[in-house]
Amino acid sequence: MKHSREYEIAFVGLKPGHHVFNYTINDKFFEHFEKPEFNNTSIEVKLTLDKKQGIFLLHFDINGVITLPCDRCGDDFQMPLWDEFDLVVKQIDDELVAQKNDEDAEVAYIGRSESLLRVDTWIYEFIVLSVPMQHIHPDDEEGNSTCNPLVLKYLNNQNPDQPNGLWDDLKNITN
Ligand SMILES: [Zn+2]
Repeated sequence: MKHSREYEIAFVGLKPGHHVFNYTINDKFFEHFEKPEFNNTSIEVKLTLDKKQGIFLLHFDINGVITLPCDRCGDDFQMPLWDEFDLVVKQIDDELVAQKNDEDAEVAYIGRSESLLRVDTWIYEFIVLSVPMQHIHPDDEEGNSTCNPLVLKYLNNQNPDQPNGLWDDLKNITN
């Protein structure tokens, strides 16, 4: 797998204290990962890194929009995302890293001989985590659903005598 160096932080040269890194994430970013259920990604990730002795406190701010299909009507819609995540990265002896990294989701470990923090996998995981479980068109200001009105009409008035009502409506529109 080829990784972009854009997501490597050479922390050895950083002074102790806070450092801010900004990343603009689009669909191309996800080519290196399991394909997510959304696309048209436009997300800004602000990473604040607090460098301390042998430990890094990372704070990820996620802010943007994605496009994904609505669970109710099936049409694509834009979903805003905003969320934040904290991660502690500890430097430990190299030979302990593999066993330690299975223990805790909020703490990651890197070996003392490392000089780079790779942040793209964390960014990927936090973006995926920030997507709500339910994907449904938001309501408008009057509290009405913004789902596809034809599908809503069909779902609201399922009449056993007219099972083809939706398709008749669709035909009328396309004609
Ligand atoms: Zn919908």
